[in-house]
Amino acid sequence: MSDNCLFCRIVRGEIPSRKVYEDDEVFAFHDINPVAPVHFMLIPKQHLVSLLDAEERHAALLGRMLLLAPRLARDQGLQDGFRTVINSGKGGGQEVFHLHIHVIGGGNIPPMVK
Ligand code: ADP
Repeated sequence: MSDNCLFCRIVRGEIPSRKVYEDDEVFAFHDINPVAPVHFMLIPKQHLVSLLDAEERHAALLGRMLLLAPRLARDQGLQDGFRTVINSGKGGGQEVFHLHIHVIGGGNIPPMVK
């Protein structure tokens, strides 16, 4: 956990969020600024900055997150499919430096997240 990280604070409940899912390792919540009718984020509870910082020891966690994406997307009503986006580092358009998988769908989804 990182004291000042926005998403760590959301995991700790210090900042309110609209929770989609939670287990011991993973948290999911709706994006505050959705780009489509359904837009939520899947994050590890542990403070991992981005894919640029991921190591072999994170393999199972990252795999679990990817496998959760379709399950949660279906739970949110996305029966036809969804888009996943992972922005990594400043050069990848990342703005919150706690790894997150955007899950987006429903209606006309834009070509890119931003
Ligand atoms: P980008 O903003 O370019 O998509 P990121 O991939 O870092 O960059 O995404 C950060 C996401 O976090 C944004 O979609 C933003 O709307 C969302 N966000 C920021 N603050 C909150 C918050 N308090 N609750 C939920 N989502 C948030």
